[in-house]
Amino acid sequence: MALIVQKFGGTSVGTVERIQAVADKVLGFRRAGHDMVVVVSAMSGETNRLIGLARQIEEDPDARELDALVSTGEQVSMALLAMALHARGCDARSYNGSQVRILTDSAFTKARIREIDDVRIRADLAQGRVVVVAGFQGVDEAGNVTTLGRGGSDTTAVAVAAALKADECQIYTDVDGVYTTDPRVVPEARRLDRITFEEMLELASQGSKVLQIRSVEFAGKYKVPLRVLSSFVDGPGTLITMEEGNPMEAPTIAGIAFNRDEAKVTVRGVRDTPGSAYQILGPVGEANIEVDVIVQNVAEGQSTDFTFTVHRNDAKRAAAILQELLPSIGAREVVTDAKVAKVSIVGVGMRSHAGVASRMFKALSDVQINIQMITTSEIKVSVVIDEKYLELAVRALHSEFGLDTPVAEEA
Ligand code: ADP
Ligand code: ASP
Ligand code: MG
Repeated sequence: MALIVQKFGGTSVGTVERIQAVADKVLGFRRAGHDMVVVVSAMSGETNRLIGLARQIEEDPDARELDALVSTGEQVSMALLAMALHARGCDARSYNGSQVRILTDSAFTKARIREIDDVRIRADLAQGRVVVVAGFQGVDEAGNVTTLGRGGSDTTAVAVAAALKADECQIYTDVDGVYTTDPRVVPEARRLDRITFEEMLELASQGSKVLQIRSVEFAGKYKVPLRVLSSFVDGPGTLITMEEGNPMEAPTIAGIAFNRDEAKVTVRGVRDTPGSAYQILGPVGEANIEVDVIVQNVAEGQSTDFTFTVHRNDAKRAAAILQELLPSIGAREVVTDAKVAKVSIVGVGMRSHAGVASRMFKALSDVQINIQMITTSEIKVSVVIDEKYLELAVRALHSEFGLDTPVAEEA
């Protein structure tokens, strides 16, 4: 008998019929003797619908009220699932984040979990009940409802699993595991049997939305055994593992991530003097705008161009801040370009294989894609390119690094 935390995403609880199918699945595990805690997302489309309602009132709604609003989506699914379990003769109780007491900081819309009170959950489990927890939400010290950022139910599940020292955390979604890249973009993508935490964290950070970044961080930090599985078809899914295996046998690249959410900001004619990078990025950072890729050209003469990427939603704000500062930085102009995308190849195998970056650049050049920016880390190479070539780039790299599903040989 094990303690299992299962999480069902939006599509998996998208209709009453699907919620009933989830109840059947959970009940199967309960009847096998396991202690079950189930974390649910809002029904698919619901979080977007709620955000849409708020935006009809205000373009930039108050963050506290937005959290009060969007957290309701998960509360609908938690109650429906508990009812579906009752209808099957299974004792179950649902709790929202505040009832469990998932304590977070007060950063509305992107709160971080500080502590989870396990008393209620443990008491219910001891009574033989299935516990259903609303994903994506918590409560701050002052009692305000908070949410954990888009995709945050993954993080609720892993954090609850960590707090309960669960034997496994199973993330059920609409794909049957983690693939070499988003299977919606590259149909030849392959499911991975296992992937290291480090690689999964890098893929999530670079834009693979199959798991929220924070959930992978939690799983790594608290050593929560984590598996991604399909709600709809049985199978082994993908295990996120601590073990790296033999580095010499690791494939060079585990997967490819991409991100369409970034925009490029270029400051032209920046004085080539000490402190200019700080003069530009200091005020951007103070405005709480996160900077991702940075490129500064070597100066030709007295001045240079300084380019960086930020989230698309922040591009206008970053440009406005720098526009004001142009005279003091001694720069000519600020321009933004939102039509860019970032593609990243990720793999611990890079540590033991040389020339991975140049292989990437050659594959892109073979399909005539111009690279605008480059950034690397120990297990990742990212490039910023024109958004319209994103799919072509991902496909080209997927086949260059041997990730495509092998074509069955003809007899
Ligand atoms: P849920 O609502 O269950 O949380 P998400 O939509 O958040 O589901 O995540 C699942 C989706 O992630 C898949 O449908 C797929 O399109 C996308 N995805 C992106 N990258 C990958 C990847 N490398 N492997 C699998 N799925 C991926
Ligand atoms: N419902 C939230 C969202 O759509 C959280 C989640 O599904 O994980 O982002
Ligand atoms: Mg998700």
